[in-house]
Amino acid sequence: MTDIEPGVPLARLTTIGVGGPARAVARPRSVAELGEALRFARAEGLDVLTVGLGSNLLAADEGVDALVVRLEGELAAVEVMDAGLVAGGGATNAVCLHRARDAGLGGLEFASAIPGTAGGGVVMNAGAYGRDWSDVLVRALVVTAEDESWMAPAELGLAYRHSELGTTDVVARVEYRLEPGLPAEIKATVAELVARRKETQPTNKRTFGSVFKNPPGEIGAGRMLELCGLKGHRIGGAMISPKHANFIENADGATSADCVALMVEARRRARDQFGVELEREVVFAGLAELPATT
Ligand SMILES: Cc1cc2nc3c(=O)[nH]c(=O)nc-3n(C[C@H](O)[C@H](O)[C@H](O)COP(=O)(O)OP(=O)(O)OC[C@H]3O[C@@H](n4cnc5c(N)ncnc54)[C@H](O)[C@@H]3O)c2cc1C
Repeated sequence: MTDIEPGVPLARLTTIGVGGPARAVARPRSVAELGEALRFARAEGLDVLTVGLGSNLLAADEGVDALVVRLEGELAAVEVMDAGLVAGGGATNAVCLHRARDAGLGGLEFASAIPGTAGGGVVMNAGAYGRDWSDVLVRALVVTAEDESWMAPAELGLAYRHSELGTTDVVARVEYRLEPGLPAEIKATVAELVARRKETQPTNKRTFGSVFKNPPGEIGAGRMLELCGLKGHRIGGAMISPKHANFIENADGATSADCVALMVEARRRARDQFGVELEREVVFAGLAELPATT
């Protein structure tokens, strides 16, 4: 049985560095241990919160009354196959990309600036530069307290930053289809994409990535919030990034309440100025849904 550790602060498990204690944290290292952890949660009547790198997660200051699951060991390992990779759900995108490049496999470069895991990528259908997980995903092994099954993208219901997976579905393995590529060319593409990111986004600050999804239409959420005059706007220790208005930075001891207050303000201004109801992209843990703007 995997160890269950009580009271770990979510602030330590998220890139924004905000959030109170989880009821308990399990760190399964195999599919069997993961199944046991999920059955333990079910038996104890606990919600499950799987956390990858916590790079798109905002957790409540009061903590989260759930069993947090962090995938480790073989569930965070990466193997090269003929024309792709099999990654543990907890494998970081950076490690997947390195392994792919060294094996002369291209196609994952778009993920170079996405600081998450293979499982988090599937659940969020993460993407950048016109590509997303659905372009490279062959299938994902989804484990629940009851069973495990390999699911293809269509079964996962992947859409823009969305999948149909529920909170007790854990992505334990991810199979990627990649194509032959020269390591030097892959390296050059990654360097170029990372440099572009650094110019436009606060990559060296504590954030949780995009706050809102881009609404339909010409103007992205970041540009919209910039036109609302929100760059640099601060509540408590949280600040709308002066570099990109669709990011919130933990400027100085931010709380989740500070971040939520900024989100409420940003949605109100976007509604007033553009008539648009922005939809959050960041996943909330232990937090109430944002109030409607009308
Ligand atoms: C600086 C920065 C830049 C970013 N740029 C981008 C970008 O360009 N494009 C983009 O799409 N995103 C971007 N993000 C957001 C984030 O990196 C992605 O959404 C990423 O895929 C989240 O992965 P994660 O492992 O950190 O997931 P987490 O943040 O840990 O979790 C996100 C959601 O996925 C669930 N989850 C995580 N792992 C699993 C699993 N194995 N099984 C089941 N559920 C799981 C969680 O429960 C939660 O619901 C950025 C974030 C930052 C901080």
